[in-house]
Amino acid sequence: MKKNITCLNNCYGCGVCVKACPTKIISLKETSDGFYAPIIQEQDKCIDCGLCLRICAFNHDAVAQDNTSTDSYAAWSNTPTVREHCSSGGIGFEIGRWAIDNGYKSVGVRYNPQKNRAEHYIASTVEDYMPSVGSKYIPSYTADAFDKINLKEKYLVTGTPCQIDSFRRLIRQHRKEDNFILLDFFCHGVPSLLLWDKYSAELKEKIGNISYASWRNKSTGWHDSWAINADSTDGSNPSEWSDFYDLMTDERKHTYNSRMSAGDLFYRFFFGHYCLNMCCHKSCKYKMESSAADIRIGDLWGNKYKLDDAGVNVALAFTARGKQVLANIQKSCTLVPEPLAVSTEGQMSRCAPMPTIREKVISQLRSNKTLNEINSGLIFRYNLRFLPARIINKIKRTL
Ligand SMILES: Cc1cc2nc3c(=O)[nH]c(=O)nc-3n(C[C@H](O)[C@H](O)[C@H](O)COP(=O)(O)OP(=O)(O)OC[C@H]3O[C@@H](n4cnc5c(N)ncnc54)[C@H](O)[C@@H]3O)c2cc1C
Ligand code: SF4
Ligand code: SF4
Repeated sequence: MKKNITCLNNCYGCGVCVKACPTKIISLKETSDGFYAPIIQEQDKCIDCGLCLRICAFNHDAVAQDNTSTDSYAAWSNTPTVREHCSSGGIGFEIGRWAIDNGYKSVGVRYNPQKNRAEHYIASTVEDYMPSVGSKYIPSYTADAFDKINLKEKYLVTGTPCQIDSFRRLIRQHRKEDNFILLDFFCHGVPSLLLWDKYSAELKEKIGNISYASWRNKSTGWHDSWAINADSTDGSNPSEWSDFYDLMTDERKHTYNSRMSAGDLFYRFFFGHYCLNMCCHKSCKYKMESSAADIRIGDLWGNKYKLDDAGVNVALAFTARGKQVLANIQKSCTLVPEPLAVSTEGQMSRCAPMPTIREKVISQLRSNKTLNEINSGLIFRYNLRFLPARIINKIKRTL
């Protein structure tokens, strides 16, 4: 058997191998568990060059990291509409905007309502980059966008840390790192697309075909911003970047608005870790400062900014290039130097623990059961066993 990417199991599904393969025989497909994985239909066309395995982050123990020292900030956009509509402080969008204004194309993730999927795409204008605003808490399909990237041109590429680690290896392999700025974020994990399919199918029964979906919304404050918002009306095209947010959010009817704090089931499954990708439990080597990116961003949830309800980013620059980019966005953003203990407070330092019912949950997500039935049956019974320990802990705390 040829030694290629199909030798690996439960990989990150980052899709960079699709671009790397000189014979173009790799494609990225959805697995029956609802994640992406590379497949090769014509194994006989593989020339055994080993490139896919060389650039695959899952196939290496170490992270393709360059950082010698880390600059650490609390940060936010100075433009109120940007800060209002981005997931945390809007620094992700501001870096993309700066990159486009300075001759780069920006590669981000948008929600595609026709496919009901999150996908990477290439933006050449700030208007094009707007749909990247906001975290989409499902795996993103990267292959088409990555394949279109011309390594001889300049790009900002954003993505999960595992996607960015493979991408770093690819551009290093081609000696094209100088053309790229790489940005990742602190990453909790990605839930199965089966969860999103079931959730959005139930949603469709309530509001009709979904034309807009967002996973974060600050209408009741940043600290309560985990909310699925969806709409079935057509969005108009924004004429200017600053109009975009209103057209994409406020002026839409938001026929549906379901918050985690009010028991939203998508978030119950996501944050309960009931159906995360296996690699997020077993093979994530990207916690805290472990990154192949130039810059890492995230939500700054720590004590120091706990009263700020507009949204604050943590922004870490690892490389000279990353440090330069953060220096360059100072005109449009506030960056407050903070020790790592402050900026990374509350971030996960290890992989998400895997509940023993993960396989059963995934199997029930494939069945006809509703999310409510899975939650009030399998998940409820699973959590019952922790009840005595929880009660004892509560009594101990009270005493
Ligand atoms: C799956 C996932 C898990 C996360 N886990 C954590 C965490 O544990 N701790 C933490 O502090 N922050 C986490 N984040 C990041 C956080 O939600 C915000 O995206 C981050 O703080 C940037 O917000 P912003 O306001 O700067 O920018 P925004 O402009 O809102 O930035 C969003 C950025 O994320 C990218 N993006 C959105 N969805 C995806 C996706 N599915 N795959 C790849 N890239 C995507 C967009 O291209 C854009 O660059 C996670 C994000 C995702 C998508
Ligand atoms: S070994 Fe080379 S030819 Fe074979 S799948 Fe990997 S990249 Fe393609
Ligand atoms: S938790 Fe780790 S393995 Fe999972 S998507 Fe995020 S970076 Fe990749």
